[in-house]
Amino acid sequence: MLFCGLFIVRFGESQTLQNLPQDYFVHPLDIELKLSGSFGELRSNHFHSGLDIKTNQRTGANVIAAAAGYVSRIKIEHYGYGKALYITHPNGYTTVYAHLEKFAPRIEEYIKKRQYEQESYEIQLYPDDLDLRVDQGETVAYSGNTGGSGGPHLHFEIRDGDARPINPLLFGIKIPDSRLPLVKQIKAYPLDTESTINGKNEAQLLRVISLGSGKFKTEPFSAYGEIGIGVNTNDQMDAASNQNGVYDIKTYFNGKPSFEMTFDRFSFDETRYINQMIDYEHFQQNKSRISKLFIPDGSPLSLYRETNNNGKLKLLDPEAKHTYKIAITDFDGNLSEINMDITNESKNEYLSLKDPKNATLVAHNESFSTTKGSFTLTIPKGTLYEDTFLNISENADVLKVHEDVIPLHKNMILNYDMKSKVGDDMGKYYIARITPWGAAYHVSSTLKGNTLTAFTKTLGTYGIRKDTNPPTIVPVNFKSGQWLSKNKTLTLKIEDKETGVQAYRATLNGKFILMEYDYKTDLITYDFSNGVSTETDNQLVVIVTDNVGNSTKFEANFQRKE
Ligand SMILES: [Zn+2]
Repeated sequence: MLFCGLFIVRFGESQTLQNLPQDYFVHPLDIELKLSGSFGELRSNHFHSGLDIKTNQRTGANVIAAAAGYVSRIKIEHYGYGKALYITHPNGYTTVYAHLEKFAPRIEEYIKKRQYEQESYEIQLYPDDLDLRVDQGETVAYSGNTGGSGGPHLHFEIRDGDARPINPLLFGIKIPDSRLPLVKQIKAYPLDTESTINGKNEAQLLRVISLGSGKFKTEPFSAYGEIGIGVNTNDQMDAASNQNGVYDIKTYFNGKPSFEMTFDRFSFDETRYINQMIDYEHFQQNKSRISKLFIPDGSPLSLYRETNNNGKLKLLDPEAKHTYKIAITDFDGNLSEINMDITNESKNEYLSLKDPKNATLVAHNESFSTTKGSFTLTIPKGTLYEDTFLNISENADVLKVHEDVIPLHKNMILNYDMKSKVGDDMGKYYIARITPWGAAYHVSSTLKGNTLTAFTKTLGTYGIRKDTNPPTIVPVNFKSGQWLSKNKTLTLKIEDKETGVQAYRATLNGKFILMEYDYKTDLITYDFSNGVSTETDNQLVVIVTDNVGNSTKFEANFQRKE
């Protein structure tokens, strides 16, 4: 694995990636490392910033400090990373451990004290460098499934001094991989209105033919003008069947290097540009991700390496024959190659371009605003990646803003004039996103004067809804009036079907109790070991509020002796 050092010396790279410390970090789990997610893997609206390490479908595996250091940050949130621990090391790197079930006892004690002081489960702490020192190999937490985790695993990251995540495998962490990257789809794109693929100004999927041993070709095709190629590829490692991301993709046009991207480091403020890097419309329609092997205009992604003409191919010489090659490698250097033959076709003088019927051209570098019915739509400058034709219409208080096949980088703003609702409990109204199958999803909306405002990064159809139903609260492991001396916990199910749970608060005999909330199961749980009450007779009060302010109060009495 030492030869990996060869891979990390690249054009355009800063010095630091060439001299990463090897064998400084040990495995963050004391079980065999099997990955369900790799660094840079393509995810919804982001590149994956670490390794997802499998924990045998269970929670509770020992999570150990990958190197000595101090706990520099603790973040507990309902969504996202759930319970997460950050350790900063003397060499300037920080390791991150996320979706944890709980922390080691002294860290757990440190956090609980502050959760009770702030009366909040969600918390963010930046301990001093002397507060929580840890040794390499020390158990600092137990693996879990908290936050936006789809199954028990450990999310592990290594970040540099500028908080940029780096591929942890570059630090000598070894995971056996002898399998070749998978090649699933290849697509060719005309990049302007004059360019053609097989005579048409439309992107086209090309048939992929496997020749064995990681060699592929596509059906031959003809093209004219400026075009680009895209690939849908994944990698599998030896110990698990999960389909992870690849490490490097390089292309050659007529034998000369054309484009390269390497998944070794990026920064969080670049991560949303993934929606411009992939064929977003193809993803929305097929749920598979095709990576463009050319740099979209304005993309700041640092995953790109040296390119020729940004990886775009110029085919202006009728009858000429061209070759194009895509070389895909995983971290261990296993190589899959696709060879393509392209015939240069003549310019199509009779090209029929798609007529953008009733569409409005919205410039990407100017702010755009339009009023339709009671709605005013604003698309701020820099929200679109390129100038785009959008279909915008309104009918019976439903605003259609194109459809979700074009990515937005920033929020667009929807304002709704509430004058027809004056006097009708206006605070209970919200803007909802209406799916093609008619389901309505709450979009966080604020009412100021007579204007209801929502921000969203998703094109699509929006309407007005009113939620007057309060949340429900149901005890799960007890009933009011019972003796609960044997209970270790109090667990309740809290739900709000329409706009969702916005906040909850629980007290025992008037004193705040810490309840941990898991949005995936709708459960809130109090652990009696917190010791808030030593009374025999207890009164529990739980108040849950939804996203438009409807609230429900639940009360129960119970007896308990330790
Ligand atoms: Zn992860």
